[in-house]
Amino acid sequence: MTDGRRIAILGATGSIGAATLDVVANLQRHAPDAGWRVMSVSGHSRIEELVRSAEAASPKPRTIVVSDGQKITEAEEEISRQGLTGHCQLDTGADALVRAATDPEVDTVVAGIVGRAGLESTLAAVQAGKRVGLANKETLVIAGPVVTAAATSSGSELLPIDSEHSAIYQCLAEARGLASTRSASQPVCDANDSRATAEANGRCDFGSPNHAFPGVRRLILTASGGPFLNSSREEIDAATPAEALNHPTWDMGEKITIDSATMMNKALEIIEAKWLFDVPADRIEVVVHPQSIIHSLVEFEDGSVIAQLSPPDMRLPIQYALTYPHRLPCPAPPLERTQRWDMSLIPVDLERFPALELGFEVARVGGTAGVVLNGANETAVPLFLSGKIRFTDIARLCKQTLQDHNHESAPSLARLLELDTWSRQRAAQLAETISVA
Ligand code: NAD
Ligand code: MG
Repeated sequence: MTDGRRIAILGATGSIGAATLDVVANLQRHAPDAGWRVMSVSGHSRIEELVRSAEAASPKPRTIVVSDGQKITEAEEEISRQGLTGHCQLDTGADALVRAATDPEVDTVVAGIVGRAGLESTLAAVQAGKRVGLANKETLVIAGPVVTAAATSSGSELLPIDSEHSAIYQCLAEARGLASTRSASQPVCDANDSRATAEANGRCDFGSPNHAFPGVRRLILTASGGPFLNSSREEIDAATPAEALNHPTWDMGEKITIDSATMMNKALEIIEAKWLFDVPADRIEVVVHPQSIIHSLVEFEDGSVIAQLSPPDMRLPIQYALTYPHRLPCPAPPLERTQRWDMSLIPVDLERFPALELGFEVARVGGTAGVVLNGANETAVPLFLSGKIRFTDIARLCKQTLQDHNHESAPSLARLLELDTWSRQRAAQLAETISVA
């Protein structure tokens, strides 16, 4: 029997958080004695929903974290209204996220907060040596080298929840698992392996025999193409928030849905892959796959390509991050063989989706570029949603903000945080100069 994990769900009221709660409830049904347990749930708003998720969990989470410190009274009233006083303790404010992430009784943290707001708690979980199910890709985009170095020194396992990175992780794990002479109890495909090996050997190029992933030539991320895959440049320029929020295959939070429409999401994922798999930008490719069934592919030196397939449902990559290296029954539907599945792979169009080029560029130069791209994008998305800038201005603002910053190759965390603030201010200033037609 696979031992259950004691899990902190950060961002429990979001799309990833809700799917995680479902996965854990299913694992508990499947193996009631294994000890699967949600230790804490966090939310920033939608307090009623947050408390309801705690109420529905069994056993009840020990802690309900309300990260917005202004909502203490509302949270206390809701906890009392739903009969949880005495069952769950309330902890509030941004620091409470760090406390939940580093709780000694927690062994696994699901980082499901959106954007930069998830940085401190995710990093704290990594520093505390927890297994981290990483949905919050922005943390790696902002501070990839800091996070991966912390994982190497603490022994934290970074398990991607992002479906593309989970797919790559699964392909590499399966490929290496079969080829490996290691014993089954040793983890294969530890994302930190290559960095540890690099330290031991001095040099460790991606794909080389010393690298954690020998024989791998390229990682190929799939992209659905979003709602504007077949739109003209003019149509994309005139896109409304409602059109951009209408994703054809995935049901996700607002910010990542807009990121998918601009393909900034794929840009962030290129950078995420760079840090997660220790792979240079020129070994990462993106291919459009509108059906979102092939979640990504790995190409080996002999030209063989291994892919991971499943219907678009985040519960599978979430569960994999929780149960790895084991596989257990999952509530996500399987790929039905009674219906026809058409799967196309289409080259990307960098002209209509210029955000992608920014992703490759930032992955190439590293350093301070990631935090600046992310800060500009997190500023531009709400400006688009509130009608202050046009859809295509999002990538334009990000590009200009990147050009306006003085690149540094090895910034400290403190410097990255300064640049996070700077990039938001710069992008907001630039937006002032843009008039919405
Ligand atoms: P969401 O908007 O549905 O949920 C976001 C969560 O973050 C909520 O629980 C919210 O309360 C919390 N939050 C928001 N602002 C906060 C703040 N200032 N402080 C603390 N908590 C805050 O988002 P989502 O779609 O679940 O995405 C979460 C993360 O997972 C993002 O980084 C996204 O890129 C990534 N991701 C999501 C999906 C998906 O299918 N939804 C897929 C891959 C990756
Ligand atoms: Mg993804």
